[in-house]
Amino acid sequence: MKTIGLIGGMSWESTRLYYEHLNRGVQQRLGGLHSARLLLSSLDFAPIAVMQREARWQEAGEQLAAEARILERAGADIIALTTNTMHKCAPQLAAAISVPFLHIVDPLIQALRADGRTRPLLLGTRFTMEDRFFLERLETGNFRALVPPAQRRIELHTIIFDELCKGIVTDQSRQAAEQLVASAALDGADSVILGCTEICMLIQPGSVALPVYDTTALHTQALVDVALT
Ligand code: GLU
Repeated sequence: MKTIGLIGGMSWESTRLYYEHLNRGVQQRLGGLHSARLLLSSLDFAPIAVMQREARWQEAGEQLAAEARILERAGADIIALTTNTMHKCAPQLAAAISVPFLHIVDPLIQALRADGRTRPLLLGTRFTMEDRFFLERLETGNFRALVPPAQRRIELHTIIFDELCKGIVTDQSRQAAEQLVASAALDGADSVILGCTEICMLIQPGSVALPVYDTTALHTQALVDVALT
């Protein structure tokens, strides 16, 4: 089995989901007492979140690249970043290592394509919904995603940072997320991308009007596939 190197802690609420999904995935595939072979570099999210707010992406990318090099030296065969937002720095990170980097959007594109989706709604932080890095990668897969209106994007961003990243899930926020999906369905969306690794705490497959594509689940499944081939 290959060793997966994770750069996590952004937030740790979703990194623990990665840990659980990866171990369950390997256990399901190999049975017995098998579990994932993992190295985790879990960062303090507070200074990273400040860099995000201050648009210090180059500096954040340098830190992620340094962590990736540490994981490579420690024996990681493949490296992944457990946050959609910080994939804004993915080119910098991938360029710093000689082992493969599994970009979170790639297994998402494969899943959307396999199911014949064409018009997904993208939910995530404002960085993910508004900056071009995520949407551009989706466009390379020929997907033109919808995003919620500006005020709804601000509300969702606040829910992610003030609640989900602190492990808080409220009925009010769940209803707000469900409402976003319902109105996007009326606007022609055929699916919803949970493009933030914590949004699965609010929305699950079957809980909303559209088919759900959860980047946390898809990314971890793809990592298990790589680890076991
Ligand atoms: N984990 C989140 C994401 O997937 C948000 C936290 C962050 O800004 O990194 O985008």
